[in-house]
Amino acid sequence: MAEPTYRFFDVQVLRTERLSRSLVRVVFGAVAGGAGLGGVGGLGAVVSGGRDQRLKLFLPQAGQDAPVLPDVLDTDWYARWRALDPAVRGIMRTYTVRDVRRDPDELDIDFALHGDLGPASRWASAAAPGDRLALLAPVVTDNGGVDFRPPEGTDWVLLCADETAVPAVAGILEWLPAGTPVKAWISVGDPADRVELPTKCEAEVSWLTRPASLAEAVAAATLPAGRPYAWLAGEASLVREVRRHLVGPRAFPRPAVRFTGYWRAGTTEDALLEEST
Ligand SMILES: Cc1cc2nc3c(=O)[nH]c(=O)nc-3n(C[C@H](O)[C@H](O)[C@H](O)COP(=O)(O)OP(=O)(O)OC[C@H]3O[C@@H](n4cnc5c(N)ncnc54)[C@H](O)[C@@H]3O)c2cc1C
Repeated sequence: MAEPTYRFFDVQVLRTERLSRSLVRVVFGAVAGGAGLGGVGGLGAVVSGGRDQRLKLFLPQAGQDAPVLPDVLDTDWYARWRALDPAVRGIMRTYTVRDVRRDPDELDIDFALHGDLGPASRWASAAAPGDRLALLAPVVTDNGGVDFRPPEGTDWVLLCADETAVPAVAGILEWLPAGTPVKAWISVGDPADRVELPTKCEAEVSWLTRPASLAEAVAAATLPAGRPYAWLAGEASLVREVRRHLVGPRAFPRPAVRFTGYWRAGTTEDALLEEST
């Protein structure tokens, strides 16, 4: 049987850092005696494929110290997790691996805070050293959780994102080879949501404060010549609108546009999961 590309890790908050008005970095480390980031208990060490590498995190319910997971975490973990009482089992959410470091083993996730509305945002806004989570994180760098894959022969890259996809954009800009032409548009709620995005690319990053429209900004732009590769992520309707413009009036080939709704206004991630299963 093929080796799994993702495994579960028990982690705790080591520290937090405020990156902007809405973005908080949570740095995770292993829990003593748990299945640690460094591979305690026979688990492989957590790694990241970089770019927009995704992972699942499991939050404790109110009143729990640590998330409740199935006793057996094998390839059938998802069915086992679904069989648990939704009011008791760990709350599953999808996030981006912002960074992984060794000696000591640490993993960063940048959370866009959107108030008290969702359990992940609520948890992250109060996160403190010692708080526990579980991660389902990659243990091989070549895994199915990286979407940003510009094909050979790509001449330039277009990125569109909101706050939730800023960590992925940061990872993409770090990963792309020096000199790659990039045009990026990022929609935020407030100018204080902007962060530095270090890169060796020839990147032109435009920050838009809502209600300014991403799709309108892209539509008004002069785009470089050559073969494009577009990557769009953020609120689902925003992403759809930009994609429609790119594959419509701009005539981008459909396979050259990678788009992902990171969340949908008015819908929890649990409800989105129910829809898709
Ligand atoms: C592949 C992938 C990678 C992602 N990476 C990141 C990441 O690195 N950082 C990050 O912050 N998010 C990321 N997200 C988005 C994150 O998973 C969602 O925002 C998620 O819904 C947050 O969970 P919650 O428990 O806070 O809210 P939920 O319980 O899922 O939702 C509660 C309510 O809040 C609304 N809502 C959810 N997110 C937002 C938001 N950002 N602003 C305003 N309202 C919102 C929902 O529409 C719903 O009405 C990623 C999503 C995907 C699919």
